[in-house]
Parts: sequence; structure tokens; C-alpha cells
Amino acid sequence: MRIDSVDFFYVAMPEVTLDADGSQDALVVRVTAGGHVGWGECEASPLTSIAAFVTPRSHGACLPVADSVLGERLDSPADIDRIAALVRRNSMDLLQAAHTFSGIEIALWDLLGRLREEPVWRLLGFEHSYAKTPYASALFGATPQETLEKGRELVARGFRAVKYGWAGFGEGSVAADADQLHAAREGIGSDGLLLVDAGQVWGGDVEAAEARLAALEDVGATWIEEPFEGAEYGAYAALSAAASRSGSVRVAGGEAAHSEALARTLLDYGHVGYLQVDTGRIGGIGPAHRAALYADRAGATFVNHTFTTHLALSASLQPFAGLRDHRICEYPAEPRRLAVDLTRDYLPIVDGELRAPDAPGLGVEVDLGALSVYRRSVEIRVDGELLFAGTGLKAPEGETTESSEPEAVGVRGASR
Ligand SMILES: [Mg+2]
Repeated sequence: MRIDSVDFFYVAMPEVTLDADGSQDALVVRVTAGGHVGWGECEASPLTSIAAFVTPRSHGACLPVADSVLGERLDSPADIDRIAALVRRNSMDLLQAAHTFSGIEIALWDLLGRLREEPVWRLLGFEHSYAKTPYASALFGATPQETLEKGRELVARGFRAVKYGWAGFGEGSVAADADQLHAAREGIGSDGLLLVDAGQVWGGDVEAAEARLAALEDVGATWIEEPFEGAEYGAYAALSAAASRSGSVRVAGGEAAHSEALARTLLDYGHVGYLQVDTGRIGGIGPAHRAALYADRAGATFVNHTFTTHLALSASLQPFAGLRDHRICEYPAEPRRLAVDLTRDYLPIVDGELRAPDAPGLGVEVDLGALSVYRRSVEIRVDGELLFAGTGLKAPEGETTESSEPEAVGVRGASR
């Protein structure tokens, strides 16, 4: 079969705040091929990701992502890899291409899984989907007291692991950060796994990060995540070495990797103990899976990065579902209403554990009604020519753009 259409649904909360909360908007992708449907989700900046799909070519190696996807054959996982290589080659100078293609790639796996009635993790070659320990991903409170109370609430909801991040951590004094860390530990109790996300706050400043190691050790933190910008490999290596000397806290990172090679580079040269990959950014499930196998061979632990819907959560679990020893997984604990409403299915936490679903594909149905509630109306024109409207590219001449859903305008492979 061939890829017939790609639709993008840009959805957002009525107000998008400055909180470091990625669940305030989303870009959901629907792909059709041979009458079958698959769903995926891109991470970060919906409008620019749509633009990368339809933008006019700049030159021979800067083509819109659509040119490498629409009309391509899709019969097996090998076709997904082949299409991914086409995108990397044809859109090599288009930086947003990786994010755009991530959602499409995820939808291609979902489509093949549904068609073959197999979960995606089985298409990846795994025999089992092992239970993971989900950590509640939350932001630090505005005060240590708020942080403490938030921890108690999350433990009361059944979480055995909590990650706090952002919200000013690392921007003030070392003492203020230490207060937040002690409040976090008190809130989740002595048994809970405590993880800390610095959100790139120290840029490349190793000294600033090292100054927090003692407090992180004091509270028994498992990792310090994203202390630096994604490509500050030297800083990652220096902090990893310092952390190994000082105790048991390890450095984590990888959500900024928008290619499999960048994830490998962070392991090889940044020496992180935990490699965190977002399938919605790295190029999808295939590269995330290979990064997980690479981390395993390197003696590091693979962790999913995800902060939005359960569609994205399921996609993020597939790449390491079958790796028994890689047990920690991220779970969006405070999503905005939009991220909850977008799916009809949720991955249940049973006895404090979570696993990638056994259902075909990603095992999560998207709620079309919710999509229309939160939809942003987008139109992209160049010289008056309509490149994108509704959920898709302009229809080829002579072809109707009507569909069973209001305003849904598909991107048709026949337009190539
Ligand atoms: Mg993070």
C-alpha cells in the first residue's frame, strides 16, 4: 500500500502560559494508507512542525517533509526506516523536519500494528512488554512548602517515584535549591525515588551544577536531569565524572536529541547514566528503539521522555518495552485538560507499575470530538497560494477536499 494522506491537528489550551508544561498544546498526526489509519504526535511547536511539512523547497537538500512521505510504499517496518532515511536526506537543512517526521513515523508504526493486529513493541522484535515504575513528572512548587505538599499528594496517588523540575530551580542560590530538594524528599518520604530536572538551567556552567551535588546526595536523588544545553557534551562528561566521585547521583539527559546519532553522542561523549529520549522529537519509535539498545550495550539506563497525552506516552514506552532491566519511566502526572481529553484510552497504573499496552498498534484511540474542541485554525499561504488549511495540504486540482469530519482536509499522496 501507499501513504495516501497525512493530517495535522494543531490543538491548544485557550491560554498558553509560561509554565514549562508541554501539555498546553499538541500536534496530533493522522496517516492513512490503503484504507488503514494510524495516529501519532509530534513534540513541541505545532505550527513550525506543520510548516516544515508543506514549506516550499529551498534547494535540493531542503525539501518539505511531505515530499519524502506522501505516496511512499508502506508494507513493513523496513519501509518506515527507508522513508526516515529519505526525510533525513531530502530535508537535511530543515531543522524542524525531525520533529515533524517524529509524529508521522509514530503514526506509521501505529498503522502497521493495527493492520497486523500486533502491538508496536512486538513489531520491534520484543517478546514481552515488561512492567516499568512510572515516575510522576511534576514541577517544583513556588515555595518549598508547596513542593512538599505536592510530593505528599503524588505519593497518596500511588506513585513510588517523583520527578521535580524547572520552576526556578538552579536560578537562585545553592541554599534555596537545597531547601527545595529537602522539601521534595520530605514530601515523598524516605522510600520514594527522587529525580530532579534542571531544565538546561546552567547552560554549560559545570561549576554551577557541581555546587548542587552535595545537596542532591544529601536527599538521595537518583539523577540530575538536563543540567546543560543538549549539545554541551564536555560539560555533561565533567559533571558525570564529578558525580561518580562524589556519590551515587547520576546525570541524565537526552530529550534534546533530535536524531539517533545525537543520542549516541550524549552517551559516548557526555557519559550520562540515564538516556532520556522523546520519541516525538528524535524521529519517532525506530530511532528511539535503536538508542535504547545502544544505551543497554553501553551500560546506561534508557528512560522515555514524555509530557503530554497517553498517545505520546504509549509511543514513548514501545522502544524499551522489552528491556526488562530499564525500569523507570516518565508519566505525565499533571497534564492540562487538553492532554487528558485527546484520548479515549489511558494506560493504567496497576500496583504502582505501568506497561506498554498489548493492544494492536499503540493501543490508544484518539477522541475526534476533543480534537475539534481544542483545534487551532491554521492557514499557510505563499504568494496567495494556499499551502495548508484545515488539517492538511491543499487538495490536488479536481479532487474534493471534503471528508466525514468537519474541516478535515487530507493531504493526498496523489498530489506528488
Ligand atoms: Mg526534562
